[in-house]
Amino acid sequence: MRESFGEKKQPMMKILFIGLFILVICLAVCTILISALRTSYSKEISEDFQAHHISAGEKLDSTIRNGIQLVETAAKVLGNSEYEYGSSRIYSILNEYDHFSMLESIAFLVKDGGIYYHNRYYSADAADGSATKLMQTLKGTGETVIDIAISRFEDGLPHLLIVAPVYYNNEFRGYLAATMKIADIFEGEEFNYQNTMGECYLVDREGTIIARSSGAEFIAEKSVDFCVSMLEYSDGKEESKRAIQELDNAFESDKSGFVSIRTRKADSLQISYYPLDSANEFFFLSCYNDNLVDDKVQPLLFRSVLSCMIIVVLMIAIIIFVWATAKRANITIEKLAYEDPVTKGKNINYFKEFASNVMAIFKETPFVIYRFDIANFRYINEAYGHIRADEILTSCIRNFDEIFTEKELCVRMDSDQFLAIIENDKGVQQRLDRLIKNVNAEARGCGIKYPIRFKIGIYQVRKHDHEIDVMIDRANVARKTLGSDENEMVAYYSEKIVQNMRKLDRIESDMQRALANGEFKVYMQPKWDIYLNRIAGAEALVRWIKSDGSIANPDEFIPVFENNGFIEKLDFYMLEMVCQKMHEMIENGNQIFPVSVNQSRMLLHSADYVENVKRIIEKYNIPENAIELEITESVFLDDKKNMINTINELKQCGVRLAMDDFGSGYSSLNMLKDVSFDIIKIDREFFAESITSERSRCILKKIIELSESIGMEVLCEGVETDEQVMLLQTLGCRLVQGYYYSKPIPEEEYINLYCRPYIM
Ligand code: C2E
Ligand code: CA
Ligand code: CA
Repeated sequence: MRESFGEKKQPMMKILFIGLFILVICLAVCTILISALRTSYSKEISEDFQAHHISAGEKLDSTIRNGIQLVETAAKVLGNSEYEYGSSRIYSILNEYDHFSMLESIAFLVKDGGIYYHNRYYSADAADGSATKLMQTLKGTGETVIDIAISRFEDGLPHLLIVAPVYYNNEFRGYLAATMKIADIFEGEEFNYQNTMGECYLVDREGTIIARSSGAEFIAEKSVDFCVSMLEYSDGKEESKRAIQELDNAFESDKSGFVSIRTRKADSLQISYYPLDSANEFFFLSCYNDNLVDDKVQPLLFRSVLSCMIIVVLMIAIIIFVWATAKRANITIEKLAYEDPVTKGKNINYFKEFASNVMAIFKETPFVIYRFDIANFRYINEAYGHIRADEILTSCIRNFDEIFTEKELCVRMDSDQFLAIIENDKGVQQRLDRLIKNVNAEARGCGIKYPIRFKIGIYQVRKHDHEIDVMIDRANVARKTLGSDENEMVAYYSEKIVQNMRKLDRIESDMQRALANGEFKVYMQPKWDIYLNRIAGAEALVRWIKSDGSIANPDEFIPVFENNGFIEKLDFYMLEMVCQKMHEMIENGNQIFPVSVNQSRMLLHSADYVENVKRIIEKYNIPENAIELEITESVFLDDKKNMINTINELKQCGVRLAMDDFGSGYSSLNMLKDVSFDIIKIDREFFAESITSERSRCILKKIIELSESIGMEVLCEGVETDEQVMLLQTLGCRLVQGYYYSKPIPEEEYINLYCRPYIM
């Protein structure tokens, strides 16, 4: 769930869609190809069938024509021969032609009704009048006439009867009649193609079936009318009816062609027709079922479909491969883009998306942005090492994920900087306490005794807030207001903070000009010898007296200058002002006391610092030990070894060195062993505690004793009361500084009060 709030729309889906699209296209192309293939095969078979149909028709035609020619020739031969009735000459001619396999049987029908047939003569009576009847039908035509004689012979099969007139010396004598058996008319090899593909029929112009190829099935055995049978065989729809009608009409013309009808079995039958030239009464038909195309095309189709399937499967495999690779790459990219390498949690990029989404989805939920870091993490890092310090960071993220809800998220930005979006409900403090408790428990578990505490800047998200960057910045602004004070752990972003920021901005923009205009003034706070009850020296403290007359205290601007580096300039300026004044005072014969000048820790890091101090001391010809430099003990946290060198070099310049604010930070008595300060200044807060706590007083006493035993003077800061003075007297502290004796006062006033020239 938490994951889904931070998710962006995946480009993966796009890839998947493109893949599927290609797949669909591929399938469509396959289908189109297959259908085109079928159509083309179907057309090819149809054309082939048609061509074979015509050549078979021609063959049929020529067979019949040959039969006719044979009979005509026989008639002529019979007419030309000088025969007499009953003569053996007739038998011999009839026998000669009877031997032609094409003709089945041959007979001479004499015009008086007698018949010569098979070496016998049947008188008109014996022939039962059949020859006479036939002749009556043919009479007068005088041409070769073809007709069908059915069941004249015992086999009951259709026979083609060819009849030719016989003339003897231009005198009509009778007819020569021969039959051709047409039952097995489609047996020749010319009909092989048609027979294997389908069936052949011979019909007359009425559509009556005269012959059919053996094993014909399309039309029931007993049917005699082709068109009527076809109507029954068809699906009975309008289209089929029209095709059959077209066929019926074709029987009355002399054209060849074909029609297609849909059958009851939902396939189609193609019927080709061919009118016989030789026997004008007849049509040769051949038909085949469309199923046949499928039978022919199927293996090819199968191969095509198989190829298509292989291509599709390959496509799918490629798509899956590309998809999986892209997904893996995506995960890696996502990791790089959204994961924090140290804690393995999410990073700020992810946080921004998550926070924006979650705030958009849960519009009514009040959210707060936490921007926090771990107090003194630097110390943990140095004292316990990076690995364990990183474990703390990881522990923060892990515990947050466990304790907080799906709507909430915490990420590490860098070092020990964290960012969280939290629901501002009643339980928020409870969750936070649990987080701190768990992290501390885990820290102790890995040997870190130092307490883990968060310094938190909070921004309360408002309804019209949209820019997540702005919200983060605001929480950070709040966090930055938290100093090193251990009691100040949480800060809320507020208008006041913004005003302060503006103020800081103003300080930054004004500081250079202020320095040039001499707005930074030296104030002096006397140091007092409580044994002799007289002044023992002074501390120079800066005041910013602005052009409008207002006075700013160092606390307002020193931290700003320490941040932006301007403090270096100011500190040198102060040192130079103090030295200049001291030089002037010496010239004027004023009494002088040692004056201490505060030196920021930053100063000590600059390479030419000692040189610069030396230059100023020499420039104003300052007596030995008349200038004291106050350095806070915290500088030694940075780089102890270098600091010790710098301090020893400074001592060579003839200045005294004071350790300022002793007891305010992580001071170590051990340090006093390494650095030979001339004086230690006990911090105001630390000293204040000695009044109330017996234990502190004891420690203070020991510090004083210890310092003096190693030749260091001790000064207590912030002495404000009689009581404190008395306490210090009993503790053996000689030097003090505080409002009890004097507040910091303008330099001129200080000179007037304490440094008047000796009266000779
Ligand atoms: P600090 O060096 O500890 O200076 C002593 C501060 O204690 C001064 O505050 C002084 O006015 C105050 N003080 C002295 N006696 C008493 C007392 O009896 N009671 C109370 N409540 N306060 C007392 P100030 O002048 O406001 O300076 C604050 C801090 O600013 C100084 O603390 C010092 O750290 C820094 N500072 C002042 N001037 C300079 C400067 O020229 N350079 C640098 N780097 N820091 C400076
Ligand atoms: Ca000081
Ligand atoms: Ca001090």
